[in-house]
Amino acid sequence: APPVLAVVGRPNVGKSTLVNRIVGRRVAVVQDVPGVTRDRVGYPASWAGRDFTLVDTGGWEIDVAGIDASVARQAEAAVQAADAVVLVVDANVGITDADADIVKLLRRSKRPVVLAANKVDSPIQESDAAVLWGLGLGEPYPISALHGRGTGDLLDAVLAAL
Ligand code: GDP
Ligand code: MG
Repeated sequence: APPVLAVVGRPNVGKSTLVNRIVGRRVAVVQDVPGVTRDRVGYPASWAGRDFTLVDTGGWEIDVAGIDASVARQAEAAVQAADAVVLVVDANVGITDADADIVKLLRRSKRPVVLAANKVDSPIQESDAAVLWGLGLGEPYPISALHGRGTGDLLDAVLAAL
């Protein structure tokens, strides 16, 4: 079976938009309202001649106290079932407590993680992505899931990590 790539992150950062961009069709539901729980679904995709299965983990509900226990279990299951993880962060917002909570969970998983700094719609926003080095996950890849900027470099990095 092709390797499984899980797309994770707090609500509204653009996970489903990224999944649709990579798959090349509107398969994942893009939500303007955060926090709507959805089942994990895998979609076949390929890049640079390699096939993989992309899993949109939309629906991680994170309340003011952080990630609750049931959500943490769901998140951990998605990550455990994956061979590699793309963590999506909103570069316009920077690092939130919820992002930091997810990073802790990802560290425990021991899965390779590639960091996507999303919503970098124009080159002048690329400097915003640099603060995401602070997550300790290495290089943030600036992308615009909406417009398709940078997603090739991101996928190159992901395939190299598999
Ligand atoms: P998810 O909750 O992480 O799956 O986020 P969605 O994919 O549902 O997107 C949440 C909102 O962010 C929607 O209004 C998207 O159109 C918007 N969005 C996603 N990617 C980008 C991007 O690269 N740039 C901008 N400006 N908006 C984006
Ligand atoms: Mg979503």
